[in-house]
Amino acid sequence: MSHTVELLCVGTELLLGNILNTDARDLSRELTALGLNVRYHSVVGDNPERLRAAVEVARGRADVIITTGGLGPTCDDLTKQTLAEAFGKKLVFHPECAETIRAFFARMGRQMTDNNLQQAYLPEGCTILDNAWGTAPGCAFESGGKRVVMLPGPPRECLPMFRERAMPWLAALSEGVIRSRTLRVFGMGESEVESLLRDRMNALTNPTLAPYAKEGEVELRITAKAGSPEEAAALIAPVEAEVRALLGRKVYGADVSGLEQVVLEGLKARGLTMGTAESCTGGLIAKRMTDLPGSSAVLKGGIVSYTNEVKAGVLGVSQALLDEKGAVCAEVAKQMAEGARRALNCDLAASVTGVAGPDSDDRGNPVGLVYAALAAPDGVQVKELHLARAVEGRYWVRTMAANHALDMIRRWLEDHPA
Ligand code: ATP
Ligand code: MG
Repeated sequence: MSHTVELLCVGTELLLGNILNTDARDLSRELTALGLNVRYHSVVGDNPERLRAAVEVARGRADVIITTGGLGPTCDDLTKQTLAEAFGKKLVFHPECAETIRAFFARMGRQMTDNNLQQAYLPEGCTILDNAWGTAPGCAFESGGKRVVMLPGPPRECLPMFRERAMPWLAALSEGVIRSRTLRVFGMGESEVESLLRDRMNALTNPTLAPYAKEGEVELRITAKAGSPEEAAALIAPVEAEVRALLGRKVYGADVSGLEQVVLEGLKARGLTMGTAESCTGGLIAKRMTDLPGSSAVLKGGIVSYTNEVKAGVLGVSQALLDEKGAVCAEVAKQMAEGARRALNCDLAASVTGVAGPDSDDRGNPVGLVYAALAAPDGVQVKELHLARAVEGRYWVRTMAANHALDMIRRWLEDHPA
């Protein structure tokens, strides 16, 4: 599939700067990882003449045109109408589509208005891309050697629609399967990962290896094209092994949603529980654990010990220590974790104390200085972290502090196999 792609994003809001074109970024990543060549991004407003002109340009320079936006009932089917016309197709009513839309509204307990049925008009002979994440269905067709895919604008519909609906359609045309596996890396920046893997990334064509930076971590996606899922897996396995050998324990999981998922599953598998004592993260670790369904099996609770009063009173941190050294030091972090382990009666307790900023604390500790500790049955460990970054500020310090605390649990679990 060495096809060229043009992304054509439809929406006046994009041109006015009201919203960022995240669909273009998301789809480009996906397409590139699949080995497709994204050659152009275009953006056009909700205007049929200009959209038509943009389609003419796109069909002249790309094999695959993927549009986003303008599929909903509010836009008078601008995108479908215009693309259908440009490729000499009529819009025809698809009753099965109308049924799906009716069912969606029934499920949501919402009243369906007639214009919603507009969405059941799609280009004749197209493949319907059923929208399980919203109402407006997408569609795909092939005409005159060009492939056209239309996706809805809202990002939480656009991306899953691409992955679950459009990708299989594109793959089916190319006779083969595309499979990917995503390794997640914590404790190494994107540039460091890139410099370690650059030569391999450049040399590999099938599978491809591509890094993506994510909130303080890096994702490495290995994508293979093959005749069958088994062949694809066989292509991916040696590259995965190679990456794991290079990055070691910094790779914390494959095809997982994040550190918290690995922690949740690791605790579950061992029949262990956890708790938290959080100062500068204000409950973020507990929040991230409870974002996951099933966390009640492992998370006993969390104490947001923001003041010294609570650190001493609830967690039993030594008042003399707090008076002498202040709240941001290794010993306090340790005592917080031990106190939480006692108070919450859990197997593992993580604690965080630090300076989130924007100002240094009253003892002159710099922004970004954080101590994270883990109390476990075999003792307590503490890590000193320096997390300050010029731009992201408080948000970054807190996110990274939570990541480090979760990573300490993850590593402890790896050291204590189920
Ligand atoms: P809907 O059925 O929701 O109307 P639609 O396919 O008609 O879907 P639009 O009306 O064009 O999509 O856009 C709906 C919303 O989706 C926009 O208000 C915006 O929030 C978001 N959106 C649209 N296009 C993009 C884009 N390229 N990048 C990010 N967000 C987008
Ligand atoms: Mg719309």
